[in-house]
Amino acid sequence: MNLKNKIEKQVEKTLKKVGISKKDKIIVALSGGKDSTLTAYLLKKYGYNIEGFHIDLKIGSYSERCLVAVKELCDLLGIKLHLYDIKNEMGNSMCYLRSAVQTKNRSQGKNELKNCAICGVIKKWIMNKEARRLKGKYIATGHNLDDEAQTFLMNILKGSPKLSSNSGERTQNVANKKFIPRIKPLFNVAENDIREYTKKLKLPVVYEKCPCSFDSYRITLRKFLNTLSEEDKKNILKNFERVSLKMGKMKGKEINYCTNCGEPSRNKMCKKCELLKI
Ligand code: AMP
Ligand code: ZN
Repeated sequence: MNLKNKIEKQVEKTLKKVGISKKDKIIVALSGGKDSTLTAYLLKKYGYNIEGFHIDLKIGSYSERCLVAVKELCDLLGIKLHLYDIKNEMGNSMCYLRSAVQTKNRSQGKNELKNCAICGVIKKWIMNKEARRLKGKYIATGHNLDDEAQTFLMNILKGSPKLSSNSGERTQNVANKKFIPRIKPLFNVAENDIREYTKKLKLPVVYEKCPCSFDSYRITLRKFLNTLSEEDKKNILKNFERVSLKMGKMKGKEINYCTNCGEPSRNKMCKKCELLKI
């Protein structure tokens, strides 16, 4: 099977499982990287109703290159692009926000939080809030097979497999009306295939890694996972599905609203407000 057919088959299988209608508005979270770019390209090709959303994180020239790529992609696909400027909206660049959190945690003797962990929490908070404002029924992200296998292993190694129970092709705690479900059309697609295919299609993509992701624990796991086959990675995710079902998907778990920002949260204060509070 050629690469195009292989990828399209994997994506169609995932989309079928997720079960979205072509009328539903999907907000595609575009980073400028290969994964979310291919996600938008394929969703558009299949006739889904998509709009792009990009958070300009203001991480120097890297962010500038991402913004150019995202604009070019949306022009190419003929879709709307919604931009969120983190400096305008939150007062500072992601680099500044992240350092502030790390300095605060250090002064309070708390565990060091990795750059990607902080950025991830803040991005998810923004995506949910903005996708809701834009009346999106779903948020699509570019997470791929390798990302998902890494996350699953990471949660196990950190002793919190329960965290994975809310992952998967589609987030499962959809009961809350303020929470916009996230879908991952590339859930079954290997990272190397995505790289090769986006290059073949000559899509506008920033291939370099974010300059802040150097200390990520994921890098260690990525190196390990790269020694495994695609089949091994798929098997890891099959286990994930079983564990997830056994743990009851956290479906019944109550969702509150953050006392600070009003966004859905499992605790009194959401993770983003917990991180950024002074
Ligand atoms: P990451 O958290 O960087 O691994 O990215 C995971 C997914 O989140 C990507 O595939 C995108 O769909 C989305 N994403 C990451 N960064 C951005 C961004 N700056 N703006 C919009 N979406 C993003
Ligand atoms: Zn909050």
